Amino acid sequence: MMQPFSYFRPTSLAEAVNSAARVQNARFIGGGTTLFDLMKLDIEVPTTLIDVTAIPGLTGIEAETHQLIIGALARMSDVAAHPIVRDQYPALSESLWKAASQQLRNMATVGGNLLQRTRCPYFRGGEPYRCNKRAPGSGCSAKDGIDRGLALFGGSDACIANYPGDWAIALLAFDAEVEVVGLGGVRRIRVEDLHREPGTTPHIETVLRPGDFISRILVPTTKSARASTYHKIRDRESYAFALTSAAVGVEMDGKRFGDIRIALGGVGAKPIRARAAEALLKGQPYSREIALQAGEAAFSGVRTSPHNAFRVPLGIQTVADAIDIAVKRA
Ligand SMILES: Cc1cc2nc3c(=O)[nH]c(=O)nc-3n(C[C@H](O)[C@H](O)[C@H](O)COP(=O)(O)OP(=O)(O)OC[C@H]3O[C@@H](n4cnc5c(N)ncnc54)[C@H](O)[C@@H]3O)c2cc1C
Repeated sequence: MMQPFSYFRPTSLAEAVNSAARVQNARFIGGGTTLFDLMKLDIEVPTTLIDVTAIPGLTGIEAETHQLIIGALARMSDVAAHPIVRDQYPALSESLWKAASQQLRNMATVGGNLLQRTRCPYFRGGEPYRCNKRAPGSGCSAKDGIDRGLALFGGSDACIANYPGDWAIALLAFDAEVEVVGLGGVRRIRVEDLHREPGTTPHIETVLRPGDFISRILVPTTKSARASTYHKIRDRESYAFALTSAAVGVEMDGKRFGDIRIALGGVGAKPIRARAAEALLKGQPYSREIALQAGEAAFSGVRTSPHNAFRVPLGIQTVADAIDIAVKRA
């Protein structure tokens, strides 16, 4: 049963941040597309909802010489369709197009997207499942359960849930940062540092503090972002989370790889940057064989179970195919 809560719609960022920091267990609402689901499941039980959609100036998409700046309240569909994003950052655009459904993308914000929580069925399933993320200290039913779609990287004894989002993977590949407004002022956090691995505290998922609000997303301009793709493999071709995915961008130096970016989605407890795969390709001439070797490097040493082992060869192929697509775009 949904619990009572109060609702507040501030018109300035300062008001929003001050209220969120003052009230215990307040939540911002962007599009509400995942928060309301989690409230209906009694997983999120906020005392106050702070609707940030009346705060002006947070929906812009601006291309400067050195960076792309996206307001956190921009809708997924608006960012995906923006001509500069499509042309100069195709991996970013594709990561949004391939996420959720058109109705959700029209409603959901790119800031809220980054903070979506795992789709682990034992987290969302409630009783009788044990879940350290939902109820700290209760245990993890997923570990003895069906872990087909859960984390291959970064899980712990306490939690093997995966990070489900697509957008953060593409942002991670291109060294994006988020601008965060909190009680102490404005700071920047690399997308790479935003999410935390579960360790012994899986309920703490990001480095954000109470009241912190993501105001903008900043993506450096690179040649590798221009020749990029977000390749996503899922159980059905639309409206499904990634079994494996790869954001890849390349800058070719003649026939050889120059700057190369590879990030993996669907498979990590948090978004994963595949630096070993990047290092393997750097300076090498392109071939299908080396693309597959890069995929193998990305998944090297990963621990699997009978249910999820199929995602390793699938992931290797996903990385190799994404490299092929990016090279053709270079
Ligand atoms: C059926 C379904 C399928 C989906 N499939 C996919 C998929 O394939 N790939 C994918 O990536 N996603 C998928 N999603 C997730 C979807 O993309 C997210 O629900 C959406 O992006 C969240 O954005 P929102 O603005 O609605 O967030 P909200 O629900 O409003 O907020 C989410 C969380 O972020 C917090 N928050 C919101 N904005 C800010 C901010 N600016 N600063 C700080 N905190 C903030 C809220 O307090 C809340 O805790 C799916 C969702 C559904 C329901």
